[in-house]
Amino acid sequence: MTFRDLNLSTQLINALDDLGFETPTPIQEQAFSTVMSGKDVVGIAQTGTGKTYAYMLPILRMLKYSVQQNPRVLVLVPTRELVVQVVDEIEKLSTYLNIRITGVFGGTNINTQKQAVSEGLDIVVATPGRLYDLAVSRALQLKSIQKIVIDEVDVMLDLGFRHQLMNIFDILPQQRQNIMFSATMTDEVDQMITEIFTNPKRISVAKSGT
Ligand code: ADP
Ligand code: MG
Repeated sequence: MTFRDLNLSTQLINALDDLGFETPTPIQEQAFSTVMSGKDVVGIAQTGTGKTYAYMLPILRMLKYSVQQNPRVLVLVPTRELVVQVVDEIEKLSTYLNIRITGVFGGTNINTQKQAVSEGLDIVVATPGRLYDLAVSRALQLKSIQKIVIDEVDVMLDLGFRHQLMNIFDILPQQRQNIMFSATMTDEVDQMITEIFTNPKRISVAKSGT
């Protein structure tokens, strides 16, 4: 199968052409219709298998264009390096879409980030601590969030972000799609899924060579 066999928009196909990507990876192929369904999704696949586009392709397919001030999609990642990387990947994919993406992370001036989010955005990519600080200071409104992605959730829980993640879930709208991606399935990950998710669809790609 190629990306043309997925129900993608011309804008996304053109962006993938520019990147030179023709074929979805197995996790991208499996995740597409599952994420599009709007149900909660748990995706497990090892590092380097294309998980960012596995969740971003269906999300961008649904988002299409900017409609309002407040973000509709929240992507949480464990580190500032990953915020920068994921923002960069989403920007490449949304070259032909009118979508605003902002990355926020700790260890840097919060006022600059408050200014950035005040200009309006569709997707916010964040580390948990800074996201929470921006939300409680009312610089960032989370009331329009329809989809939350927790990427590298295994790493996030290893780094001790559990409490901060739970605080964020508490201030998000009840009506939303929860999406989680991880390289490994640990007991802690499983526990969080049980607490937060509603009948999640699980997709996983076996490690090659096993
Ligand atoms: P993971 O999150 O699973 O570790 P990434 O999403 O970071 O993997 O993707 C790993 C690399 O593969 C990135 O450089 C990405 O641009 C590239 N990539 C993603 N999807 C494809 C594809 N369908 N074809 C070729 N390369 C891809
Ligand atoms: Mg990744």
